[in-house]
Parts: sequence; C-alpha cells; structure tokens
Amino acid sequence: MNSMPSADAPEAFPPWLRSPLAGLAALVRTRQPPPGLLVVGPEGVGKGLLVRTFLQRVACKAATDDVFPCGICNGCRSFLSDSHPEILEIAPEEPGKEILIDRIRSVIDFLSLSHSGPARLVFIEPAESMNVNAANALLKTLEEPPEGAMLLLAAARPARLAATIRSRCQRLRIPPPDSALVRQWLAPMVRQGLGVDEALAASLNRPMAARALLDDPVAIERWRQDREALGMLLESASPFPVATVFHACDLGSLLPRLQRLLVSAQTYLVTDQADAFARLFEPGALESFARSRGLQELSSLFQDSLQWHRDLPTALNPQLRCEHMVLRLWRRAS
Ligand SMILES: [Zn+2]
Repeated sequence: MNSMPSADAPEAFPPWLRSPLAGLAALVRTRQPPPGLLVVGPEGVGKGLLVRTFLQRVACKAATDDVFPCGICNGCRSFLSDSHPEILEIAPEEPGKEILIDRIRSVIDFLSLSHSGPARLVFIEPAESMNVNAANALLKTLEEPPEGAMLLLAAARPARLAATIRSRCQRLRIPPPDSALVRQWLAPMVRQGLGVDEALAASLNRPMAARALLDDPVAIERWRQDREALGMLLESASPFPVATVFHACDLGSLLPRLQRLLVSAQTYLVTDQADAFARLFEPGALESFARSRGLQELSSLFQDSLQWHRDLPTALNPQLRCEHMVLRLWRRAS
C-alpha cells in the first residue's frame, strides 16, 4: 500500500483536491466526525491521494498548516511507514481482486480498540471491491459504529456498492477536474519527450495515472510499445505481423488502451471527429479501421476485449492468445 501516492508537498498537490481536503480537515476539527464517509469520483482523479493526505494530517504532530501534514515528524513517519496505531488502510491483495470478509473482520477488531487521537480511522479503497459478505460485515459497523470510529470509503463506481452502505455514509464527491487545470498541474513533470496531452491520452485521461506515467521511464517505454502496436493494428494490411507486435507488449497495459482505441473509433463514426486518443494515430488509418468494421462490430469487439482482459490471469499460451485476439479484430473487416 505504500507504493500508492501519499501526501505531496503542498505546492505539488493537485489544485482540484484542495477544497475537498479543506472540507475533510474541517470535518474532524469542528465536530464529531461522521462514522462513514464515501469519497466518490472518477478513476484516477486522486481520491486515494486526497484521503491519504488527510489521514497523514490527522497523524501529524508538527503541522503548521490547517490541511497539509509536515511530512517529517514521528506521526507523519509512522503513517508513511504504514505503522500508525490508529490508522488502517484496506485494499485488495492484488489490483482487481475482491476485498474479503477476513479483511473486514480485522477492521472491526481495529475499530473496537481505544484511541488517543481524534478518531480511529480506516480507509477502504476501492470500496466497491468488497464482496457481498465483506460488505455485510462492514454494514453492521456502520449501523452501530464504536465511539470515535471513522470509516472512509473511496469508490469510482459507487453504484456497485450496496445501497445500505451508501445510505449510511456522508458523501464527498470529487467532480472531474477542469482539463486546463490538469494540464497546468502536469506541465512541470514533463520529461523524456512525452508531452502532457500524450501522457493524459495514454493514461485514459486519469490525472494520477498521467503523473505516474511521466514519472516512470519503464511505463513510458511500455506506452510507446503499446502505441506502436495499436498504430500497426490500424495500418497493417495483414493480421500476422500485428499478432507478433501484440505478443511483445504487456497485455495488462495494452488491452485497456485497445479498448480506448475501439471507443475512439466508435466516436469517430458517430461524430466524424477524432478524439484526443485517436489524434495520437494517423488520421486516415483510424478512419479506415473504423469504417471497415462499422459501429456494431466495433461495439462487439469492445465487449470481447473486456473479456480478454478478464481472462488475462488464466494461463494460456500467450502467442496463441495474441493470434486469437488479432484474428478476431480482423474477422469481419475484409
Ligand atoms: Zn508531521
């Protein structure tokens, strides 16, 4: 969990999260915190960074600022090393996996202990990854919260959370940030010839992912490989060289970008305009790719690509898998 972004220096903190952060800080300062708070906002908008900065501010013993932690005191250090006695973070064991009831039982035990700070705090993200049993166990705690307990949940898809959990939580909504503001924030991080627009498009318009990409030469290399593979898919006359290039890619990163390309192709057919992702490729190539498949086929390819992504963890010959995918992408094209 420490690999996730944690408290930024105030000047690098995303400007669209400042007012929600001040709201969170006020919640704890001025009155009894609500037992449940649900932070809702699009994927990659910075919900985790927001909550972690708030939690670190609660842990901080030397802050001179109302909302930002100092970053160096013992309280900050124990938070950053994941060993603060009154703050617990819960996430799936691996990205994409469910949060199981055992983890929620540990939350319940944790919250039943006494506290010396303003509250015992638990952060669960993504909250919608709790399975049914885990969510039911958590609901009991939300219905009868121990004194001084505060549960913070973050969800990009709150509709997947049980309505009973949603209704028990105060809601903090993070709207999609203004794109000019996001660009301005990312601009100082540009390096290795990857511009802000390309970083955002490669990250499916998620500001936090764009920042992580700009920060990681390996991820930039992977993006360039993916972009080349997708460009080849658009331009190649035959599926076989494309299968070879797909095979050289990391499918975990390529498939969401392939899905994005299929959406861009559909958008192109409907609006006659290339969106930001489509503009990364040869304009004529996307158009002929889109027209040769048609709207219905593109939508069915999109559904198939979701399935390919879900099937990734199951062992199958990767070479065969890539050939199967690329042949499917060609099937009704010629
Ligand atoms: Zn501190």
